[in-house]
Amino acid sequence: MKYIDRFKAFRTPCYYYDIELLEKTLNTIVKSASKYPNFHVHYAVKANANPRILGLISSYGLGADCVSGNEVLRALQCGFPASGIVYAGVGKSDREIEAALRNDIFCFNCESLPEIEVINEIAGNLGKKAKIAIRVNPNVDAHTHAYITTGLEENKFGIYLTDLDRVIDQAMTFPNIEVIGLHFHIGSQITDLNVFKALAERVNEIQDSLEARGIVLPNVNLGGGLGIDYNSPYSEPVANFEGYFDTIAKYLRPRPGQQVHFEPGRSVVAHCGDLIARVLYVKEGKKKFAILDAGMSDLIRPALYQAYHNIENITSESNETELYDVVGPICESSDCFGKDVELKKTKRGDMVILHSAGAYGEVMASEYNLRDLPSIYYSK
Ligand code: PLP
Repeated sequence: MKYIDRFKAFRTPCYYYDIELLEKTLNTIVKSASKYPNFHVHYAVKANANPRILGLISSYGLGADCVSGNEVLRALQCGFPASGIVYAGVGKSDREIEAALRNDIFCFNCESLPEIEVINEIAGNLGKKAKIAIRVNPNVDAHTHAYITTGLEENKFGIYLTDLDRVIDQAMTFPNIEVIGLHFHIGSQITDLNVFKALAERVNEIQDSLEARGIVLPNVNLGGGLGIDYNSPYSEPVANFEGYFDTIAKYLRPRPGQQVHFEPGRSVVAHCGDLIARVLYVKEGKKKFAILDAGMSDLIRPALYQAYHNIENITSESNETELYDVVGPICESSDCFGKDVELKKTKRGDMVILHSAGAYGEVMASEYNLRDLPSIYYSK
């Protein structure tokens, strides 16, 4: 562990961002997407909205995918041009819609007809024309955890395929709305590229059927979802962007001149962030518990989605390993980072890393139990 002495000076619990790794990841994204001049990447701000991280991502020329009015404002403050901002979400409030319109964002990804009606009305009041993409629920199974699957008909997201013709036809009649595209997002942490092949093929069918009715839109947005390898954070620190973009390029049939948009979040930032904690106590009973100074208020993914993070004791000098339930200090049984985790023999004061916590980590931290928010450190 090359940074160990540095880590020892940290106030824990803390997030540590490897900026060099983020730069390497961004270079890979830019290089692998630019093979296809009609591909545009919008980073999903929800994964990590830390201003320093956003500033670096925007400096690589990516756009931003936002899911709240405040994310739109944060993205603008951090250097993303309004012309690269897309804004999704099933429940945009009037105030959020107005702010996005005033800032002339590129596109609203719309999830229902009532929402499009409201955007039409607010745009009319402001004397603007809102550009929208219609989010379609393509009924493609992402083969991921149920809580992060969004493209099945039982989910709350998007317009059902059976309603699409009616919704598009009606949306096109609104005077202050310009329908510029279709939007899809089927889920998160998708590691099987065949799922993206299935999505591309479904999008082709949908576009064929619209084209048969004389509707050809200039944009298609395939959302995010590319997964990362949580098991071995050291062996594949940059996600398989090349395979992802190549798969879409191979199977998607964009209409002539059509622009293709992507909204990766997790795959951009997950590996570059770790949560670092100290062991407060080792409690022995029927099981051994390693009780950390970090809890679910710092990293909620294991409690919320049963998510796995690779956990490593970086300071123990023991050659022996033991099984521990690694838990936090919060008064909830779900405040557990992993059961029967094999760690080097652990004692009070040891430092532990929860790897690959850069996505949906810091951004979901809370002050539950009136705890302090985690500290933040950067590699440079
Ligand atoms: N786009 C939309 C509409 C989303 O809801 C999400 C995440 O849920 C993303 C993009 C980013 O997904 P991921 O972090 O899996 O790439």
